[in-house]
Amino acid sequence: MAVLSASMLVLGIILEMTNFDIILVYGVFLVSMLSAGQFILPRGARGLLNLKLDMHFLMSSASIGAFIIGAPAEGAAVMFLFFISMLLEERAENQVKKEIQELVELEPPSATIKMNKGAEALIPTSEVRIGDTLVIRPGTRIGLDGIVVFGESSVNQAPITGESLPVPKSVGDQVYAGTINQQGYLEVDVTSESHHTVLSRIVELVDEAKNKKAPTEKLITRFSRKYTPIMVTLTITLGLVSLYLGASPSEAVYRALTLLVISCPCAFVVSIPVSIVSSIAGSAREGVLVKGGIHIEQVSKTKIVAFDKTGTLTEGELSVKEVCLHNNRSREEVLTAAATLEQMSEHPIARALVAATEREEFQLSKSFGFSTIPGRGVEGMIGDMQYYVGNRRLLSEQSIELDALSEHSCGVGTMVYVAQDREHLGTIVMSDSLRTGAKEAVSQLKRMGIDTIMLTGDSETVAEEIAREVGVAKYQAELLPEEKVRAIEELSASGSTIMVGDGINDAPALVAADVGIAMGAVSSDAALETSDIALMQQDLRKVPSLIKKARKTMSIVRQNIAVSISVKLLVGILAVFGLVNLWFAIAVGDMGLTFAVIANALRLVRKQS
Ligand code: ADP
Ligand code: MG
Repeated sequence: MAVLSASMLVLGIILEMTNFDIILVYGVFLVSMLSAGQFILPRGARGLLNLKLDMHFLMSSASIGAFIIGAPAEGAAVMFLFFISMLLEERAENQVKKEIQELVELEPPSATIKMNKGAEALIPTSEVRIGDTLVIRPGTRIGLDGIVVFGESSVNQAPITGESLPVPKSVGDQVYAGTINQQGYLEVDVTSESHHTVLSRIVELVDEAKNKKAPTEKLITRFSRKYTPIMVTLTITLGLVSLYLGASPSEAVYRALTLLVISCPCAFVVSIPVSIVSSIAGSAREGVLVKGGIHIEQVSKTKIVAFDKTGTLTEGELSVKEVCLHNNRSREEVLTAAATLEQMSEHPIARALVAATEREEFQLSKSFGFSTIPGRGVEGMIGDMQYYVGNRRLLSEQSIELDALSEHSCGVGTMVYVAQDREHLGTIVMSDSLRTGAKEAVSQLKRMGIDTIMLTGDSETVAEEIAREVGVAKYQAELLPEEKVRAIEELSASGSTIMVGDGINDAPALVAADVGIAMGAVSSDAALETSDIALMQQDLRKVPSLIKKARKTMSIVRQNIAVSISVKLLVGILAVFGLVNLWFAIAVGDMGLTFAVIANALRLVRKQS
């Protein structure tokens, strides 16, 4: 269609120059115009009927108008060049769709499952059910989420978490759809079906993200809706004024049409979603899931980044350093009681305690009436005794007297107090190590001029030490979950604030922050759901790089808006004074600009690795 239209346009110009029959010239231009406008003209007409004057209407009337006043070459050119700029737009939109499609295609179309009696069958991935056993040969892509039940290998999880090194996997480990098995052979029990895998959630979220528009984007859409009718009015006024000032009728119409062409808002209207969606899709590939355009804009304005401590700045893989015993209790008794309750909790401290007792092969019993006390610890019954496991605040709120000894002679670290009824049995001292990359992330943020602060429910001593090690400028210790929320609200008042947490005891703070970023979203649904942005991989260095990317995205958006508006304004003013013709208006004011603006936006798509 483009070729037909272009060749007719050229033919028409040649014929016109050689003074061919005027009817024939008109005819040739008309073919050019109609072939380029076959989709544009009907849309323009529909717009007119619905009283929604959009750019199709603007361009259709400009083109038809040009034919009527005896400038068929311009009329055809307007339509042809607008058609080309529509093609450019479409390509840009496809680019974005392709990004999402690439994510979808990470799921292999079929999977090999193990049938009874050891036979194997290759079936479509969508037909695999929970409980089926997948056979995963070296070098193949894993089709569904599941747990390894046989074999040992390492798996490249880069497609969904962005982490560069393969992760070792053996029996009991979780594997994810879309990741690639390396050298070993694995058998995997499927834990979620095709449309419930982590991968399909990612695709869904990225897709939904397109609809959560950034404020700037919304502003522009609203603006362009009002703008077209205004431009049509202005154009008519310009025509009438030129006529009044003594221009010939066709001269007056020509000027008006030129202004009409320039006023087409297509360039920046398309460029904004292209920039923002490219940025979202690009981030997803790096294991950073941004759940809406709005968050990209918000992140670009960040002044402060607040971090949770346990599980965020630290690994959250605590080890038991020391157990201090009181009232002749044994180490086994204290650890077993604590772990028995903690079996039910998902807190990093809890997991660490359970792991420690398993290593020492202590037998855990059953607890009743278990409940967590956020920011303090847990409570529950073992046999007919009430137990409390948690921090000092928990014990003092239960008015349980601390054994004075443990206060002063029981090491330094995260203290977990264990009490039976009113009696303090013992104190477990635990320590945690800094997450790799945490220090680097904090120092990068500082270099970018962003304030950093740590918010923790742990004690002052531990907080102070970790803050110093990791290099955060400030910290607040002994915070309850609701106090973390208040701290975030105060920070937000002084500048746009990001909260980074692991979703355990800090979900309310993640929600309260201008942007909540959750760590380790592959393994925790809650983190994936409550946050605005989820890091698939536990790497804090993604935070500064995300901020950089968001800043770049928004600066491209702003550049595009500024350039579009100034070029249009300039050419528009020239048009008012009759200094530009239709050719120039369409080539520079519309197509050239669309091209420049889209090219600028697509810079974000290029992989930055
Ligand atoms: P952080 O801010 O360091 O992530 P949390 O808000 O999750 O810490 O918890 C605050 C404090 O509450 C912990 O340092 C710990 O002392 C205590 N705590 C919370 N949950 C538990 C638990 N399940 N077992 C023992 N102590 C707990
Ligand atoms: Mg935490």
